[in-house]
Amino acid sequence: MDSIRFRVILLSTFALVFLGFTIFKGYSDVQNDLKKSQNSLTLINNISYLSQVIHSLQKERGLSAINITNENKLLKKELLKQRQITDSILKDLNKNFNNNLNNKLIKIRENIDTNVNPWYTIKQFYSQKIEHLLNQIHLSIGSLDYSKDIIHKLDAVYNLLYAKENLGLLRATISRYYQKDSLSTQELLDVGKRYFIFKDRYKSFLLEQNNFDAQRFKDEIQTKTFDSIKNQVESVLTNNYIHTDAATLKWWEDTTSIINTMLKVEKELLEQIRKHSNQTITKTQKKLFIYTIFALIAFFMIFLLTILTVSRILQALSCLIRSLNRVQEKEDFEIRIETKSNDEFTKLSSSINNLLDYTAKIIKEKDKLASTDLLTGIMNRRSFTTSANKEIARSHRYKTPLSLIYCDIDKFKSVNDNYGHSMGDQVLEAFAKTVKSHIRDSDLFGRWGGEEFIILAVETDESQAQQLADHLRKLVMDIKVLPSEQVTCSFGVSQLKNNESFEELCERADKAVYHAKNSGRNKVSTNSEATPI
Ligand code: GH3
Ligand code: MG
Ligand code: MG
Repeated sequence: MDSIRFRVILLSTFALVFLGFTIFKGYSDVQNDLKKSQNSLTLINNISYLSQVIHSLQKERGLSAINITNENKLLKKELLKQRQITDSILKDLNKNFNNNLNNKLIKIRENIDTNVNPWYTIKQFYSQKIEHLLNQIHLSIGSLDYSKDIIHKLDAVYNLLYAKENLGLLRATISRYYQKDSLSTQELLDVGKRYFIFKDRYKSFLLEQNNFDAQRFKDEIQTKTFDSIKNQVESVLTNNYIHTDAATLKWWEDTTSIINTMLKVEKELLEQIRKHSNQTITKTQKKLFIYTIFALIAFFMIFLLTILTVSRILQALSCLIRSLNRVQEKEDFEIRIETKSNDEFTKLSSSINNLLDYTAKIIKEKDKLASTDLLTGIMNRRSFTTSANKEIARSHRYKTPLSLIYCDIDKFKSVNDNYGHSMGDQVLEAFAKTVKSHIRDSDLFGRWGGEEFIILAVETDESQAQQLADHLRKLVMDIKVLPSEQVTCSFGVSQLKNNESFEELCERADKAVYHAKNSGRNKVSTNSEATPI
């Protein structure tokens, strides 16, 4: 594989892995965000709900404070109504928090109605429950994973709740004071403390929600009523107040009006946060949808790419295997594997084709070696026999004449003896060269063994062959290899008869040579001459 392609593949793989990772990371991040937003929304809903419970308990506490000493039927009716409201809200609290607040409430209410408990115990009971709920809200706000802006709003809500609770306590304590016309030092200290906390928390609330529509809330709360409250608290603290039912009612109405406004503001703030939460959830859900689509597209692309690559590999492999099987079955090393494209498989196929080329070349060389006489380079006996049999078959089929010329160099033994074996070899080479250059390409010429050669002249009758042999005989005499001797050769000629085999034809030519030898050598004899009639 060339380095550029390798780099491209490497890069694409990295890109694909990176894409997959990014999509996966993005998808899980968005999913986490969605979970977080959903959890936050649940917490916000719980906070809203808890604030409702607190508000109802506060009202119940305030009304109970007046009812302990007052037999006013209207107030009694109001208290009973408030208790019903608390119970209906608490049904859900019991479900959510598994709280046994309900049972305790039933008991304390009985005690209030029968005047068993002193006010202090009643106040403590309600205040503890409310504080517990406030703490739960505080914990919920702490566990929320929201933007700074929203956390500020939630802190504002918490401060508002806290301020409201202290105002609620103040409302209850002072209402009671109006009923019995005196407060212990402890209670007076408590009034001062509660009023201070109320103001402090209210200020914190304004600071916390400074960033948004604070002014509107401020305007709504800072009314004449606010100053009236201040005056009434001061007159209680300086013990400078004349008790009347009307004063009790005014005190109750003023504080309740502020508490109700606070509740309204608190609800609005929570509603804003809830809206924000819902928007975040919708946005996150949209993001999740987009990520899902991207993930599906990426998955589909990877899947398609894998299928295409695997099918291409399998296709190329099966083509390769098919071609190689054909080579093996037919033992045909000329078959080549198709090479269409320019991929790795084509390169592999080309390499195998090169190997097949090489194998075919070696086989050809081996065949040539097996069929060639090493000294003279002409056909050897085995190869000549094979080719001659084919020619004889053709001659029989087409009824064409065909003649065999058998050549035996004369007294060759003495050449070896007189000039050495190497000189003998040179004579053999020269003889083969001479004959080869004077016969037709279509004629077969081979070394039969030792100093004996054989020619199969196609489409040649006996007399034509005889002429050819005589011509060759003369040419041989001109071979100039030996320093002082002439090379001569005896020739035996025979024409193929009907249905005659190669062996029979050879035998007759051999007889003719024998006849030529006996006639004094350097002669051409035909079979007809050699065979007595
Ligand atoms: P004739 O005229 O009766 O054919 O006599 P000749 O000597 O040619 O016949 P003979 O069969 O007696 O001898 C053939 C000789 O050819 C014997 C052998 O040493 C020699 N010979 C056979 N093959 C080779 C070869 O490859 N090279 C050489 N230098 N000599 C060979
Ligand atoms: Mg011989
Ligand atoms: Mg001889």
